[in-house]
Parts: sequence; structure tokens; C-alpha cells
Amino acid sequence: MNFNSFRRFTVKERFLRYVTIDTQSDPSSPAYPSTEKQKDLGRVLVNELLEMGISDAHLDEFGYVYATIPANSEKTVPAICFCSHMDTSPDCSGAGVKPIVHENYQGADIVLPDDPAQIIKMAEHPDLKNQMGNDIVTASGTTLLGADNKAGLAEIMDACYQLINNPSIKHGPIKILFTPDEEIGRGVDKVDIAKVGAYAAYTVDGENAGNLEDETFSADGGTLLINGVSAHPGFAKGKMESAIKIAGKIIAALPPGLSPEGTDGKQGFIHPVAMEGHVETATIEFIIRDFDDEKLIQHADVIRQVAGKVLQDYPASTFQLQTRPQYRNMKKMLDQHPQIVEYGLESIRRAGMDAKRCSIRGGTDGSRLSFMGLPCPNIFAGEHAFHSRQEWVSVQDMQKAVETILHLCAIWEEKS
Ligand SMILES: [Zn+2]
Repeated sequence: MNFNSFRRFTVKERFLRYVTIDTQSDPSSPAYPSTEKQKDLGRVLVNELLEMGISDAHLDEFGYVYATIPANSEKTVPAICFCSHMDTSPDCSGAGVKPIVHENYQGADIVLPDDPAQIIKMAEHPDLKNQMGNDIVTASGTTLLGADNKAGLAEIMDACYQLINNPSIKHGPIKILFTPDEEIGRGVDKVDIAKVGAYAAYTVDGENAGNLEDETFSADGGTLLINGVSAHPGFAKGKMESAIKIAGKIIAALPPGLSPEGTDGKQGFIHPVAMEGHVETATIEFIIRDFDDEKLIQHADVIRQVAGKVLQDYPASTFQLQTRPQYRNMKKMLDQHPQIVEYGLESIRRAGMDAKRCSIRGGTDGSRLSFMGLPCPNIFAGEHAFHSRQEWVSVQDMQKAVETILHLCAIWEEKS
């Protein structure tokens, strides 16, 4: 297929517009969406979709944007969905973002004007090596940029625009889903999977151009409860078994080779994230991560073994570890529908890149969607150094993502 007849890309203009809208989510808020301001961007996106003629575009009460581009093919083609999140990370301010386009990047340090201490150097951002001659977008030094995931939003929106204006690209039903609160782990809590009505989905929220991620961690949470023995401290000799001290010893005895700071690649870990302690009882909250579900059980057993060993010195004390599933490696579901990933890789190649299959040491909206009946790998959006003031994305990578989305729409039609 020839995309030379395309209209000019609109992804850059859209991106520069979306990042100026503050959509930071808030983990301490019980509301849904966690912050009302996320709907400000949702309304802008809905209006732009309606202006394109996508007449069912709407924002629901929970802050989700749904829209459909009807099929223009005679064939029966499965509906596919493209998904990005509207919120930005609570870790770094997203208010008053002032995007700056650094045209024709030639490798020099990029100094961010509102805080000259913020310098984006190639030595610290090795992916910049692939960006020579490209136009790099950054924030101004005091906020994050929000390329995570407004790059994905802008790419999907431009792809919609191109599809509507290039009827020669034949496609099946294309579903659009924009979610709130992904950064606080609630991105799909209120999603209506039946309303999405797709056979497969692609989140557009990855890093390097050409990457497709079809594996995430599997994740469990764990609560270790320690029951010690309380006594009046003046008369405690030989009686007291302090739960706080037991908890401290357990944490100190966790194997360093099974920690987040001691692992990478395909290795899993156990990680204490919070602790509350008194003399009589203490609890330690853990997150447990691995690509392999079986290993989650083994990692939980490591916690039990460490606790059991520490408690040998505290004969009147007891412990109990309870684990609960958080999300699961999407690969298990994607392997049942191999064409979803194959077509993704093929689209990347057709857009002129080397396709690289990768795994994510974390979860995505897609890992949960995959287990809700909507298998969903992640394709690149071009975002880099996300959740930081040095976040950047290149205009050219965003355009590559638009092309990849269009090829995906076309391939699903072609192979049906
Ligand atoms: Zn993201």
C-alpha cells in the first residue's frame, strides 16, 4: 500500500495542544476519575473526533472516551481497538506544561530554559543517538512533558484523521478507547469491554520506535502479618517478643538477588513497599513480580522461609503471609491469538523500521484488558524518560507511530 497520498501529519500540532492540558491523576483520591481535570482533555478529544465526523465519540461519567470509525471494507474484518491513557504521572508536576520543539537535533546538550540545571545529555539518554536530524519535543524544565501518554493520544487521533480522509485505506471497524488513571493502576477499572466491542486492542504507550511489547510482569500483592508478644517494658525480660523488631529482621534478611535493585531483564523480585509496626503486631506489605506465574508462588515461599527462619529466635510469635493477584502477564492470552502480535510486527516493518519484540518490567492497561477478554499488546509511542522533567519525544517517531497504526488497520483488512 502507498501512503504517499496522505494528508500532512497532524500529530505534532495535536501533541503540542494536548500536553498543555493538566491531567495529572491522584492515587489518594477515591473518586473516578481520580481528578476531574482529566475530563478537560477528554472533552477536547471528543470534540476533535466529532469534527472529523466520528459521530459516536463520547466521554462517559468515569472519564473514558469511546469512538468508532465504521468499516469501509466489503469483507468481514474483526474490530480492532487503539488505546492510550489521558492522565500523567503523580510523580512529577503536569501543570502549566510549556512544550518546546528543538528542530534538527545534532547531538548537543538540550538545556531546559525554565531550570537550566535540567540538561538532556546524550550520555544519559543513549536513545538520542537515533534521533539525529529529528525534531525533539521537551518540556521547559519545571514539569514533565506528558509524552507518556499524550504522544499515543496524538498518534491515534492523527491516524483517525488520516483514515477518514484517505478512503483508499480499506479497514474493518476501528475502535478508539482513551482511559483515565492508568498511572495509578486504575486505568481499566470502569471500562465497558462490551461497548468497546473489539476482537483485539493495541495500547500505544511504548518507548523506542519499532518496539512492540507482548509481555508484562505477572503481579501479586502480599501482606505479612507478624504476631509478637507484648509485655510491660519494665518487666519484659525473657517475655517480650517485639513484632517491630521481628519485622525489621525479616526485611534485613530478604535475599538481595531477589530485589528490584538487584534484578533486571526477565528476573522477578520481592519488594517490601510499606510497613506498620507495634510491639504486639506488625505488617509488611509486599509486591511480588515475575514473568512466570509459577515463580510468583516460589517468591512468596521465599518470604515464608525468611520469616520462618527469623522466628526460630521468637518461639511464642507467629506469622502469616497472604497473597492476592494484581495482574497477569499478557503473553498467556496473546499466545492464543498469535496474529495480533504478528500483524503488529508486520505493520512496524511496513512503516520502515526494524520490529523488536520486547517485555515490560511492569504492567499496562493492556495486561488487564488481555485478561478481560480483549488481548492487547503495546506498541511504541516514542516517549522517553517519562515521569521526569527530562521527558522527550521526537516528532518523527510520532509520525512513524501514526504510520504503524494505519498499516495495522490495513493489514487486518488485507488478511481477513
Ligand atoms: Zn503510560
